[in-house]
Amino acid sequence: NKRVKIKTILDTNPIGSEVTLMGWVRTKRGNKNVSFIALNDGSIITNYQVVADPNLISEEILKKCTTGACLKVTGNVVDSQGAGQSSELNATAIEVLGEADPEKYPLQPKKHSMEFLRENAHLRMRTITFSAVFRVRHALAFAVHKYFNDKGFFYIHTPIITASDAEGAGETFKVTTLDLKNPPKTDDGAIDYKQDFFERETNLTVSGQLEGELAAMALGDIYTFGPTFRAENSNTTRHLAEFWMIEPEMAFYDAEDNADLAEDFLKYVIQYALHNCAEDLAFLDQRLQEEEKVKPADQRSEMSLLDKLSFVADNNFVRITYTEAIEILRNSTPNKKKKFSYLIDAWGTDLQSEHERFLVEKHFKKPVILTDYPKEIKSFYMRQNDDGKTVAAMDILFPGIGEIVGGSQREERMDVLTKRMEEMSIPQDEMWWYLDTRRFGAAPHAGFGLGFERMVLFVTGMGNIRDVIAFPRTPGNAEF
Ligand code: ATP
Ligand code: MG
Ligand code: MG
Ligand code: MG
Repeated sequence: NKRVKIKTILDTNPIGSEVTLMGWVRTKRGNKNVSFIALNDGSIITNYQVVADPNLISEEILKKCTTGACLKVTGNVVDSQGAGQSSELNATAIEVLGEADPEKYPLQPKKHSMEFLRENAHLRMRTITFSAVFRVRHALAFAVHKYFNDKGFFYIHTPIITASDAEGAGETFKVTTLDLKNPPKTDDGAIDYKQDFFERETNLTVSGQLEGELAAMALGDIYTFGPTFRAENSNTTRHLAEFWMIEPEMAFYDAEDNADLAEDFLKYVIQYALHNCAEDLAFLDQRLQEEEKVKPADQRSEMSLLDKLSFVADNNFVRITYTEAIEILRNSTPNKKKKFSYLIDAWGTDLQSEHERFLVEKHFKKPVILTDYPKEIKSFYMRQNDDGKTVAAMDILFPGIGEIVGGSQREERMDVLTKRMEEMSIPQDEMWWYLDTRRFGAAPHAGFGLGFERMVLFVTGMGNIRDVIAFPRTPGNAEF
């Protein structure tokens, strides 16, 4: 296979040599004297210009070089006459590997709506926008592993099928081998999961955290990076039923160490993308600016995508407590008329996304690390503060995204943990394995969960979480 990637040609500019390219036709134009084929093989954002002379390439072949067709092109790399690219290919031979009937190929060389492209998720990665998004997604995933590996963290694979629902918060997808239309029943009429494959009720994981804690209590610093599943009615632009979560868990970290790591990690990953995806991000930035132009002036974002990314990577995040946030919100006027009046005496209720957005986008204009939430609105495993009312939780809020990270220092004190589990009616006998880490060699520890798609959403500037995962799982969407 003598195939050369377009990226290699653009990087090395081998003027005068003969190469073979393989890729898909984006457009073809020209006249009876010459044809110009814009070819893309996915390695880079730029289409590569193939010049086809009808004296060398038959009319029959050229007719088949339509948008979407797959070609093998051999030719000579020559200096490009046109602006933009340094070189182009003078074709000496073209083989059509796969034809694409122009009457039927869904991706015409024009601008398609995002809805249309979502319905054609099986083909949309062939567009400039989506190929850019998925190259950036790849770079971000790579950066995640690089960051933790360089810091001496170990990558742990936690189970997908589990009997634990982590904290009973997220809705779970059941996993069963039973025929649920006609399931075996126990004497009291309940489904008899004892006859199921795992001999008990199981579901898809909503988080790898609890297993991650077990690993951290042995290996010190670990992280997971895997798919998680939540059967919530995820009809928002920020929720998927299947998403990838990054969950580091660190022994001997307190809440502040945890926030420091999360901030450093987020900045690193953004910097990595800025350095390694410059062309793709420049394109996505341009795309966003064109979208902004058609918005009313007061709704336009003040910063370009690249400026926003550099700003977040270069500036300290704001750190405030939940209690301070409530105070700020009570004294704020989100628009000319309305105050957040329904927050008065609301200490103890969870913030809504409009509150979070106000803090990040209007009040501080920076990412915010919100800490020390009331214990009633957070999970049983978060460490209780000395005030008896709050826990050492943190949420990190990003502009345009809202919550990107949720984490905490974990409760390592057996008596405090079991009392909290009692209060929240969490059965301790089922979690004996978790409690063993407190029973034997309990260590202070902390960790967080980052929704990977929310990170990709932020870095690419895309508007909908469905557009940063190749094949989104949302209600009614499971075919491909
Ligand atoms: P939200 O308040 O946005 O529903 P959450 O508090 O329920 O999120 P956590 O249980 O704290 O989420 O999960 C950790 C992280 O996983 C979140 O901070 C977010 O980045 C991401 N996340 C949570 N639910 C989803 C989802 N349905 N789709 C994509 N990412 C998600
Ligand atoms: Mg949620
Ligand atoms: Mg939340
Ligand atoms: Mg959360």
